[in-house]
Amino acid sequence: MASKKDTIDHIYDFSDYIRTSFSEFLKLQPTLHRDDVPFILHEPAIVKYYRPTNQQWRYYLISLFQIHNETVNVWTHLIGFSIMWWILGELSADYDVWTERHSWPMLVFGMCCVISTMTSACVHLLHSRSVYHHYSFFMIDYIGATMYSFGSGIQAFYACSDKGTYEYVGSMYLPTMTIVTWLNFVVLCISKLMFGHNPCDVRRKLVMISMMTIQAAIVTLPFGPRYYRCYLSDTCSFSSLNHLTVSWILFASCAFFFGSHLPEKLCPGKCDVLGQGHQIFHVISVVNQMWQFHSMRLDLSSGASDHTEPDIVNIMAAFSVLFLLDTISYILFKKLIPPFAKEEKQS
Ligand SMILES: [Zn+2]
Repeated sequence: MASKKDTIDHIYDFSDYIRTSFSEFLKLQPTLHRDDVPFILHEPAIVKYYRPTNQQWRYYLISLFQIHNETVNVWTHLIGFSIMWWILGELSADYDVWTERHSWPMLVFGMCCVISTMTSACVHLLHSRSVYHHYSFFMIDYIGATMYSFGSGIQAFYACSDKGTYEYVGSMYLPTMTIVTWLNFVVLCISKLMFGHNPCDVRRKLVMISMMTIQAAIVTLPFGPRYYRCYLSDTCSFSSLNHLTVSWILFASCAFFFGSHLPEKLCPGKCDVLGQGHQIFHVISVVNQMWQFHSMRLDLSSGASDHTEPDIVNIMAAFSVLFLLDTISYILFKKLIPPFAKEEKQS
């Protein structure tokens, strides 16, 4: 009788056969062991299924349908991108987005989610072309990430905020949040340029998580005092804030899986295709985006956001300033990509 190990080996052989046949059908290059790709492209505890560098762009585009160590990262955010469009479609069916001002925070938040999921999917699909492109594309990924942070700030302030805090912070919140979000982008790029040459260097992850924490604090600022007010009130139950609490738990889970590289660090080489912490981070981030939409609708229907006065012109002006600052900074930072990465590009 075949042992359990034999059965598992047969499953692995069969999945290798499917993967190889599919790659040959699409005329794709076979994937490689990490020893055969530049060190900088290594992911902690991911051993095999790296795509070769220096192929034509067409190869990386078609690799969307190949099984490699980035396939699930690409598809999780591509699916998230489609979900965001679907939610935006629902939004335009349920609200008159031209005249109903309380639909505008949802509209802008949805736009930010569309940008962040799209940039992330493209980055994971294309960054393996060379060390230079790895640096360059990951800085584009940070543009998407900061856009999502901006969207979360809009959600927090215009859709889920505490009335007293909204009035106290007033017109200062939008410009402050925009500048902090841009500074976040700058720090992310600098840490990538300084520490990105060593994928195992924890300093970059620590800087990133510190910046995420600062961003989380500025996003929490508008709605955090709702917990305090609820605590003081005889009629308020904390369960009425469950939608915000769940979102916070999802944010914390994102940071955990993003920074820890678990579970793959516990079983190196076993999560090369499926089960990486980064994939879990992608899935939770999409769930959180859907949940944030749900929270906005909930606060809108309960009247909790009646005190806010979203102004689409101001919001879009801040959005444009952030996008412009990110783009100009990206162009400047591209010039600072380490020389060895540029040499690799030319080879
Ligand atoms: Zn990612």
